[in-house]
Amino acid sequence: MAWADQFRKLSVRTNADTPADTLNAVRLGAEGIGLCRTEHMFFGEDRIPKIRKMILSKTVEQREAALAELLQFQKADFKAMYEALEGRPMTVRYLDPPLHEFVPTDPEDIAALAKDMNLTVEEVKATCDSLHEFNPMMGHRGCRLAVTYPEIAKMQTRAVMEAAIEVAEEKGYDIVPEIMIPLVGEKKELKFVKDVVVEVAEQVKKEKNSDMQYHIGTMIEIPRAALTADKIAEEAEFFSFGTNDLTQMTFGFSRDDAGKFLDSYYKAKIYESDPFARLDQEGVGQLVKMAVEKGRATRPNLKCGICGEHGGDPSSVEFCHKVGLNYVSCSPFRVPIARLAAAQAALNNK
Ligand code: PEP
Ligand code: MG
Repeated sequence: MAWADQFRKLSVRTNADTPADTLNAVRLGAEGIGLCRTEHMFFGEDRIPKIRKMILSKTVEQREAALAELLQFQKADFKAMYEALEGRPMTVRYLDPPLHEFVPTDPEDIAALAKDMNLTVEEVKATCDSLHEFNPMMGHRGCRLAVTYPEIAKMQTRAVMEAAIEVAEEKGYDIVPEIMIPLVGEKKELKFVKDVVVEVAEQVKKEKNSDMQYHIGTMIEIPRAALTADKIAEEAEFFSFGTNDLTQMTFGFSRDDAGKFLDSYYKAKIYESDPFARLDQEGVGQLVKMAVEKGRATRPNLKCGICGEHGGDPSSVEFCHKVGLNYVSCSPFRVPIARLAAAQAALNNK
């Protein structure tokens, strides 16, 4: 593997959101985290009641109080991640899934939440029902949550910055937090969320008397973001291609349901392989290539990576090398495959 590492041009990062996964990935050669999905940190038994309280809040004050409770968990998680990384970089992706995924369905949980919030069971049920969406993957998720509830992005920023500053001071690591805003499709929505992040990050730096640098970037996972990448790059300091969503939205079929009919497509030889596993270079790949070019026309040093499942697939890794990405990020166990594929891509495309 060290031999392969001499030849590859792509860096290899991992998708991880627990210290255990991080350590495992580092052992397998990951050079940092390309995608830390923060929502995974909210599903633990001790956290879910708190995020439910946040969702059920009727006022900003109530929401902020619930978020203040979550802050401690989120900050402790980030500290543990930065410690496991020992100075390697981490891209922290802000809350992404529709809030409906967090609400209770079990009658006991609904009753507990109602009691905790001084509401009736009917009121809790009504709010949970109101969050139902016909097409949640295209609904109120990603940066849209931060536009509606900037308090969430504020809490996450405080957690990242406080954790990074404290670990840098305690351990002497050189940490530059990378904050990633998901599901952006319009420069102005990125700017809106970025302004919220910058305000809190600067506030935390002042409180902690720190001059820590940080980067704010975005995922490119909506076709419109790829099409307007030159504009988006005016605000984004890095791009990470979320090719799971980008594939879903480019093909117009759901990543959760397409498995039910794709077999007929393989049998009929319409598609050779699963576009969610192997990047569709002809269509989705064109968007990736174009977005890299447009983004770098605006910001020549724009760092570009991929964090969709394709980041660990050899043929997709070769494509990433060819279009000039800086890194691929994949699940821990695929890190060695990505390292090897990246070296082969470099040798095959001299
Ligand atoms: C993606 O869409 O490719 C991505 C990495 O984000 P998620 O899978 O969490 O939607
Ligand atoms: Mg996504």
